[in-house]
Amino acid sequence: MTQETSGFAAFDLNPNILAAVIATGYEEPSAIQQQSIPIILAGHDMIGQAQTGTGKTAAFALPILNRIDPAKREPQALILAPTRELALQVATAFETYAKQMPSVNVVAVYGGAPMGPQLKAIRNGAQIVVATPGRLCDHLRRDEKVLATVNHLVLDEADEMLKLGFMDDLEVIFKALPATRQTVLFSATLPQSIRAIAERHLRDPQHVKIQTKTQTVTAIEQAHLLVHADQKTSAVLSLLEVEDFDALIMFVRTKQATLDLASALEAKGYKAAALNGDIAQNQRERVIDSLKDGRLDIVVATDVAARGLDVPRITHVFNVDMPYDPESYVHRIGRTGRAGREGRALLLVTPRERRMLQVIERVTGQKVAEVRLPDAQAVLDARIKKLTNSLAPLVADAESTHGDLLDRLTADIGCSPRALAAALLRKATNGQALTLAAIERERPLVPNSTPRERSGDRPERGDRERRAPAPLAEGRARCRTALGARDGIAAKNLLGAILNEGGLAREAIGRIQVRDSFSLVELPEEGLEKLLAKLKDTRVAGKQLKLRRYRED
Ligand code: ADP
Ligand code: MG
Repeated sequence: MTQETSGFAAFDLNPNILAAVIATGYEEPSAIQQQSIPIILAGHDMIGQAQTGTGKTAAFALPILNRIDPAKREPQALILAPTRELALQVATAFETYAKQMPSVNVVAVYGGAPMGPQLKAIRNGAQIVVATPGRLCDHLRRDEKVLATVNHLVLDEADEMLKLGFMDDLEVIFKALPATRQTVLFSATLPQSIRAIAERHLRDPQHVKIQTKTQTVTAIEQAHLLVHADQKTSAVLSLLEVEDFDALIMFVRTKQATLDLASALEAKGYKAAALNGDIAQNQRERVIDSLKDGRLDIVVATDVAARGLDVPRITHVFNVDMPYDPESYVHRIGRTGRAGREGRALLLVTPRERRMLQVIERVTGQKVAEVRLPDAQAVLDARIKKLTNSLAPLVADAESTHGDLLDRLTADIGCSPRALAAALLRKATNGQALTLAAIERERPLVPNSTPRERSGDRPERGDRERRAPAPLAEGRARCRTALGARDGIAAKNLLGAILNEGGLAREAIGRIQVRDSFSLVELPEEGLEKLLAKLKDTRVAGKQLKLRRYRED
């Protein structure tokens, strides 16, 4: 596309910025961009209200870039974002749009990383500072003049910043900026607290409101499934069998639940990881990068940790735990269907939560259809389809490369080609259940008995019970290590270390449960003392494993 044919050419943007935008592949400005860019370019204060996924970042980043003076090596624009992930995302967006402006520097300022290099980058003349309010205040306490040259301020996801308790920090930051600055505020919602901030700190702001609630939602196919709280994990595993997903994000309410569900998925062979506020920052960035490039397919997250997360590969959102309010539901499912692509959102609803489902339907103005768990036949069909898809491309030239070998082997073994092909299939499918009977045996859930049809609602299990260890299989012993998620440990690290250094077969190791401050591993009772002695000096993630038998009393 040439610059003349791009919808962005109509704005009065610097040709370098325009070229960089066109290079991203954006063709037309989104509604919020269409309305906000001219206002911000003209230097007005502005309040922009639009849902997640509507393109707010470029709506402020492009005009702000246009308004700074790249020749001046001092902070000129400050963008505040609620979380580290969002701050990084916004900083990356600025870098993308400033690709052809080599003298523009962007610095991201957030907690969990050392302060020194951040301050140095600011003092070395980064023109754009993208920060979380908390960390920025830490910098201000050290050097109150650090923002004295900033003449453009953007509050991104202002409602979320207030929800996270940044009100006082925002006041400190407002005071540290020149009163003559331009201020732009973006928010999905405009509660009274935000209006009050705008009243005090914005000057004659222009309002832009984009009604996209229903639009955001219509690109997303929504469904719900009734399930008891204690069956959520098995329901999720069944759904994954039949959903044709590329990347998927699952939302749960607690940090513990992110770890538990991610471990359960990993144990089933999915490339899954947890994302929560307790996980070290560099590890969180790795998780998001891995989801982007396909090393991970599933991320199990809490709302705060996933806020604003933008990974175009995401085709599905599973609301495993109910969101706290309809707005966060809309935010969550906005992780898929990015920029008008199609997405699918599934909501697990326990008997007590049916009323919340109705509220969501009312607020979004849409019916969230009920689906049932796939039955054994559907699972079988899905597994066979996957197998067919994986084998079909291999058939084309296999006869020319391996046909002679097949003849030789069938002759040597004295079997039919059908028998040999069946043996190879058994090997290739690695014990996977591929008959109706076998699938029924492995699935404890009765798909057509939804909670509604059962007599009376069972009490839901609380967090405490969910944490209680599951009963042990016979011949297994439970062992404990003081290494947990907060040490950067995932189930696969423990598995790898024990496999490598303990010399065990994969089947010998049972459930691995990674908690925040410890982990539990099921190992064979037989030869346990020897095994623990062997693992005496084993280190995982740089720390001593110190695995001990765990006694539950
Ligand atoms: P918001 O902040 O409103 O949630 P983002 O700014 O994160 O939305 O944008 C959502 C997605 O849409 C991103 O992947 C972004 O690259 C993409 N996007 C933004 N503007 C456009 C556009 N004009 N055309 C195509 N894609 C766009
Ligand atoms: Mg955003």
